[in-house]
Amino acid sequence: MKIGCHVSIAGGIVNAPQRAAELGCEVFQMFTRSPQGGPAPKIDADVIKKFKEEMKKYSQENCYIHAPYYINFASANKSTREASVRAAREELERGSLIEAKYLMTHLGSAKDMSRNEALKVTSSGILAVINGYKGRTEFLLEISAGAGNVIGDTFEELEYIIRNSDDRVGVCIDSAHMFASGYDIKTKEGFSSVLNVIKKNIGTERIKIIHANDSKVGLNEHKDRHDHIGDGKIGESGFKNLIKSFSEVDFILETKPDKVTEDIKKLKEMRNKYGNG
Ligand SMILES: [Zn+2]
Ligand SMILES: [Zn+2]
Repeated sequence: MKIGCHVSIAGGIVNAPQRAAELGCEVFQMFTRSPQGGPAPKIDADVIKKFKEEMKKYSQENCYIHAPYYINFASANKSTREASVRAAREELERGSLIEAKYLMTHLGSAKDMSRNEALKVTSSGILAVINGYKGRTEFLLEISAGAGNVIGDTFEELEYIIRNSDDRVGVCIDSAHMFASGYDIKTKEGFSSVLNVIKKNIGTERIKIIHANDSKVGLNEHKDRHDHIGDGKIGESGFKNLIKSFSEVDFILETKPDKVTEDIKKLKEMRNKYGNG
């Protein structure tokens, strides 16, 4: 298990590895383009070469890419769905150029569509993203907090989408999203039943990345509000549970820059105490 956080790409992705190292990351996550939209900056041979040099220089073992936020595979609007497929595929190809290990995406919101219909079109979208793809960056679906009509907030839905798209697709769990979706990862008993739900649906081995965020909102409140480790409603016990059960998976923080270095330190200490690798 390696620990890192989401880092800014201000000035270009080549700046990310140094920024990550300065925050205490062993691995890190970034966008490769503006998360809100617009054309993606080109990743040419010079950028690839420089990026790889910087990764080595700053001892970053892996980098992960977060797909842009405007992606919505469940939109009632066909052109939005098509643009989402295009953007996700582009990110997989761009990730492959810089040897990013994983790309994770949010699934979107099922406004103006039944839940079943939304799950169907989302599965087709995910299949279209990965169909014929031969790159090395692996594709992950991120569990949501289930706010409003946002889909993919249960392991049942994620299982459905994977079963109806491609077996190569993995999962990124976010502790804050899971907790807000009603998965009690805080207590020992709660966590063991969450593990059973995971095993029954997607299998623990399908979980490739953990977004380690505490939650400003309580269990089942269905809002996506990150907090610093130990400051939120999950508390350190939840992270201890995660570290013990997922010692082979990397943990990425998505907390505010003011205290993210402290969060990284805290997780590293907990890894020393509770991890086994
Ligand atoms: Zn995310
Ligand atoms: Zn979130």
